[in-house]
Amino acid sequence: MAKKDLLDELRVDGDPDLSERDTADTFGWEREEAEALFAEEMVELVELQKKLFADKSASLLVVLQAMDAAGKDSTIRAVMSGLNPAGVDVQPFGVPTEEERGHDYLWRIHAHAPEDGYITVFNRSHYEDVLVVRVKGFAPEKVWKKRYDHIRHFEQMLVDEGTHIVKIFLNVSKDKQKERFEERLERPDKRWKFRLGDLDDRALWDDYMQAYADALEKTSTDDAPWYVVPADKKWARNVCIARILRHHLEKIDPEYPEPDSDVDFDAITVD
Ligand code: ADP
Repeated sequence: MAKKDLLDELRVDGDPDLSERDTADTFGWEREEAEALFAEEMVELVELQKKLFADKSASLLVVLQAMDAAGKDSTIRAVMSGLNPAGVDVQPFGVPTEEERGHDYLWRIHAHAPEDGYITVFNRSHYEDVLVVRVKGFAPEKVWKKRYDHIRHFEQMLVDEGTHIVKIFLNVSKDKQKERFEERLERPDKRWKFRLGDLDDRALWDDYMQAYADALEKTSTDDAPWYVVPADKKWARNVCIARILRHHLEKIDPEYPEPDSDVDFDAITVD
């Protein structure tokens, strides 16, 4: 599938139609082909990140949201591991601490927004405040309902100040989640990932899907778009994510800074 068509298909514009989307879509790729495509995309991403880091004129914020076991961690490992770690910041957002709860919900988020030259990945984000908070009733409707507007304005402010924003929902099926939970229960090296609370969230699957659908629809904008990436097949997912990031880094169009014009580079020898 052509790159532009792929991004258009993944991007959210209006109702994301989550129940209609194929969580195991491979876009016609075989696994080997997708792995080769991913390797090609990573070569481009590495070069773009080097320029972004040198240029320091803008930053990229990647918001990752998903149900448990959808593969947020493995996405970060796959896509970020090839990049220069000095220019990448991965920021997880868990249950707010007492101090964080004493502030507005964007306080802890804003503090981790990226600095010029950096790619910051939010592993969960301010969207939890219209997802888990809504589904579990941690705040009344009249409180969380207003947050979609806050979030749009907050993100627009970041964009206006030089941060590019891309938001990715890893769309996993309920069946695939079951399979991955079972693997976590069976494999001693994966048990540490399992929390009993994950089953409570699984039981509320339909409510979460409704909350995701609303959040994506209300906050996907031209400047801070949402993409829904099928997440059942990790190798297809990786290509989608790399292409999304490449597209947004190309939009930033970073360049290496001009070398010092006072220096005659060819005339210098270093003893
Ligand atoms: P993950 O599941 O992302 O690998 P954890 O197991 O630490 O990481 O889970 C983080 C938990 O924090 C999730 O259950 C998530 O719903 C919760 N959480 C994140 N942000 C908030 C928030 N603002 N309010 C309540 N719970 C939150």
